[in-house]
Amino acid sequence: MDPAPREFSELPRDPELGVPVPFAAGTDVGYGDRPAGTPVSARSLDKRRVTQCALSRVCGICGAGLGRPLAFVGTRTEVGRNAFHLPPAHVACADALLAAYRGVAEPVLGLDAAPAEWVLSTTASFEFVRPGRDDLDKRPTFQPSAVLTEVR
Ligand SMILES: [Zn+2]
Repeated sequence: MDPAPREFSELPRDPELGVPVPFAAGTDVGYGDRPAGTPVSARSLDKRRVTQCALSRVCGICGAGLGRPLAFVGTRTEVGRNAFHLPPAHVACADALLAAYRGVAEPVLGLDAAPAEWVLSTTASFEFVRPGRDDLDKRPTFQPSAVLTEVR
């Protein structure tokens, strides 16, 4: 059963980091990649949720349907490669996520840089690209297929 979307303010919090856990990280105890009984976590993304976001075109943060523009939150490296790991989000959700994560000093959500180095960009469309057999990074990426505009 697909989980229901939640308002940003209603997202569960990572018990250790104190930050809201986005939809794409799995917002239920013991969900997806995490063993039964494990608390929700902002440390990494959940593969199943990431795929669901791509195929159902729902926001990686709140889980509700996406319109345009699409907001991507990612590191400078991801912007440079035009390939993001966090699924696209509503602009308001992405803004709220950046604000909530500002004080986190370590890399989270499976990204390779701390939130202080994340940027928010917008675009109108994307392709979901699954890793090839020879790719070192075995995670799928979201690759903007329209102009990518850095917002902040
Ligand atoms: Zn959203």
